[in-house]
Formats: sequence, structure tokens, C-alpha cells
Amino acid sequence: MRSKDPKTQVGCVIVDSKTLKILSIGYNGFPPGISNSVKNWSDEEKNDLVAHAEQNAVLLKGGASLENAIAFVTLFPCEDCAKMLIQAGVRRVYYLSFRDKCRKSEEIFEAAKVELLPVNRGDDGTLTMFQNRFINMYKTTLQNVTNTKKDDSSRQLYDQLKEETKDLREMDIEDPWARGIEPGKRSDEILFKQWKDYFLFLAVVAGIRSSRDAKEGALLVDSKTLKMCSLSYQGYPRGVEGAPDDAMMVSAIMNVLSLRFYEGNKFYAFCTNFPKEGEVKILAQAKVVCLYFISPTNMTTRALTILKAAGVKTVPIDPLNEKEVEKEIENTFKGLADKEDKNTTSFKNWPRIQGTSPYELEPKRRNSGLEGVATKS
Ligand SMILES: [Zn+2]
Repeated sequence: MRSKDPKTQVGCVIVDSKTLKILSIGYNGFPPGISNSVKNWSDEEKNDLVAHAEQNAVLLKGGASLENAIAFVTLFPCEDCAKMLIQAGVRRVYYLSFRDKCRKSEEIFEAAKVELLPVNRGDDGTLTMFQNRFINMYKTTLQNVTNTKKDDSSRQLYDQLKEETKDLREMDIEDPWARGIEPGKRSDEILFKQWKDYFLFLAVVAGIRSSRDAKEGALLVDSKTLKMCSLSYQGYPRGVEGAPDDAMMVSAIMNVLSLRFYEGNKFYAFCTNFPKEGEVKILAQAKVVCLYFISPTNMTTRALTILKAAGVKTVPIDPLNEKEVEKEIENTFKGLADKEDKNTTSFKNWPRIQGTSPYELEPKRRNSGLEGVATKS
């Protein structure tokens, strides 16, 4: 969704094959210094300028090793991307749609013995089903987050903070990539109106993966480049199996700070929930300069005082408008479904390959490895 390409928005996520931890995320975009003008995004110009989602995921992975990793892509990789993914260590690729012009890259992957797994394509309406499940999960997670606000004793503190941060609440994050676009005006309609809404959306989406009912998600971005440095959710510590008591639970905030896949300088943190009192100090210590959150459950005067003393701006953001988010999600999925031309076979017309099983979006607790993730066998 973050890509500014008006025609084809492509995303790539690379995860560790054992822990399923996110190692890197990329989308199609221009290198620094190249203007996001309409001309540059035209069919004639963009091919020479754009760095593909997979290339970005490999190039901007920070210190993470992609050895034996799994890549998830919305569109089948081109030849260059296939080579880069293979060289970086990726051994399995899940993809949503395929283009006939990608036959060569398919051959490259197969020669390199990389496993290729189409995600349940072929059935009419599959993509719509996928989209609707995603929208429903998003809504449920958001409702869980906003419900915790109602009977909360922190209500007064929250209202007061809202008043104090009125300016910051209305202002969007400064966009370092807005080159070539009039300041304050984004030329496209494909992104959320404001960065902070988009990032909070991702934090809510991360929360979907949480195994408990009270879904919590968090996202960390570099405050200068807005590059994503970590995305996480609430869960049990690694190695802990079954469903032990709540005291063992690691919060989304603690996870997002501990599981950084890219090292930023200073950070903006986006959280579905305000941190617990004891977690505020880690936020400050990890150089978070601004904390955006939705639900104020756990909020205390003491926590706010610590954040203030440490120079962390604390900004409550209203939950995103569900209808608007639904529209954004639909637009993104539409972009995947409507890609039929002489070089492209749309998702819905691709033959179902024997043996592929539906991809599971619901979070599942796994002991190790890839159990529960759809495979060929
Ligand atoms: Zn490519």
C-alpha cells in the first residue's frame, strides 16, 4: 500500500523460516533523489527508475541474515529479483499473482531449487474472500483495541492529553520522500491521507497475529527516513509453549523494541495500546522520540511524567475510520485482481495448481518451524 506507483503496488515480506520473525519488508519505489512525479511513474520512465519490492527488501534488510528465509510477494518476482532473492538466501517464495513474462524467473528459481508456492489462486472469488477475511480481522482487532478504552480509569488523563496535544494530533509526520510533490499535498490517492494513520493501521494489522483476545500490535519507524524498523505483536517469549499465565506475556511494545530488523537512529513508535508503567523507561531508553497510540488502557500520571522528562512526545490518535480503511484495503486488492493485459494473467484466471492448500491468515501458535503454514505436500 505504501508504494506510490499509481498502477502496480507490490509488496514483499521476508521472514525467518524457523521463527517466522519478520526480517525485512519492501515495496516498489524510487531510489533517494528521484522525484515521485507523475512523469517518472509513467510506463516509459518507471522501469529504469524503480527499485522493485524484492530488491528493496533484500537491500534494506539491515543486519538480518536471510539464509533459508521465506519471501512473501504479491506479484511473482522478475528475473533480477529472483536472482537477488536466491543470492540473499531465500529458499521459498509464496506469491499471489503471476505474469507470463515471469517464465524466465520461474526457471531461475527452479534451477536454484527454490520452492515456489502460489497462494490459493484460481478459484473465482478467492481474492475477494481473502480481502474480506482481512477486513474482518482488521475490524475485530481494532474493536478489541477501542473497547478497552470505555471503562478505563485513565479516561480523564487521556482527555487531558488529547487537549494538550491538539496541534500534534492534527499534524502529520514530516514526509522525507515527498520530493517532487507539493508540500502537504500527496499526488496519489492510494495511500492513507496521513502517514500516521497508515502506520497505526500497520500496528493494528500486526496485532492480528497476537494469540490472545486482547490484540496488541506495535510498529517502529526511523524518525528521519520513515523506514520500518520493527513490527510486532503481543505474545509469549520464544521457546515457551502451550498457554501459560498472563504474567509470561511479552507486550507488543517490548517485542517491537527487542525484535528490530533494521537499526534506526531515533524512532517513532506506533502502538495500539499505551505502554505499561514499567515499559515506559525502555521506550525512552531505546530513543523513541514520539509515541502514537490508540487505547489509553494502562495510562498513568507517572508514566506520562517519565515520558515527558525523557523528551518523548506522547500523542493519542483516534481510531481510524473503519469505512475508509476498508476502502484502502479494497483498492489494494483491486490492484492485484485487475492486472490483466497481454503479459499478465489475473489472479482469478490462473489455474489452481494441484496440491496447494488455502493460505491461513489466522494466527496460530506454533511450536517451531513451518507447521501450520501451507506447503506443497
Ligand atoms: Zn523485480
